[in-house]
Amino acid sequence: MNILLLGAPGAGKGTQAALISGKLGIPIISMGDMLRDILVEDESLKEQVEPYMRSGRLVPDDIVGVILRRRIEKPDCKGGFILDGYPRNVEQAKHLDKIGVNIDKVIGIHVNKEELVSRLVGRRICKSCAAPFHVSFKKPVKEGVCDFCGGELISRKDDVADVINTRLEVYYEQTRPLEGYYYNLGKFFVVNGEDSVDSVNNMLMNVVEGIAQ
Ligand code: ADP
Ligand code: ZN
Repeated sequence: MNILLLGAPGAGKGTQAALISGKLGIPIISMGDMLRDILVEDESLKEQVEPYMRSGRLVPDDIVGVILRRRIEKPDCKGGFILDGYPRNVEQAKHLDKIGVNIDKVIGIHVNKEELVSRLVGRRICKSCAAPFHVSFKKPVKEGVCDFCGGELISRKDDVADVINTRLEVYYEQTRPLEGYYYNLGKFFVVNGEDSVDSVNNMLMNVVEGIAQ
């Protein structure tokens, strides 16, 4: 099963992707994580992607298109995958069609804007394994330390007010229209992302298993 999670920054895509991945045993393809890896691993590509990420705009379609294709062609994706953060606009969705990547189910995770902002400003991620935490909603056992790997918890550079605003604008203008795009293909489902992590996950699993509409 090839699943696409759609949602604004802070909607909980990464958290839910990890849970689904654990349950179904299929990999997560997170474009944001792949781009952040590039910032530390690839000097020349870094120059091309960093200005966009820092300001909260989309990295050009041709660049992310190549990154996506290289990843999705790896053998571990043959038995299904969870896409998080790609496609983010209609052009990118068309690119998936063009390279022959089929999506079975697209699930939108809806969260209101005020909630998104408060989740993002308090978000901390593990420097080593990228696991997400929150200063008030999801505290680690030991302050500043990852529960899973002991890594250092840091704020993402783009989790600051003005960049958050840009990312949300980009989401409403460019990414949200993908809901209609996939609705017209009969593939779109929506869940309320304001519930607890567990109950959102239950709703998602119901969609994935074909129980919910
Ligand atoms: P968010 O929490 O904002 O959804 P991500 O970690 O998914 O964060 O992405 C961080 C940044 O990486 C985005 O603001 C954007 O600059 C870039 N990015 C991620 N995915 C894409 C994509 N599919 N196309 C273009 N840029 C992307
Ligand atoms: Zn960690």
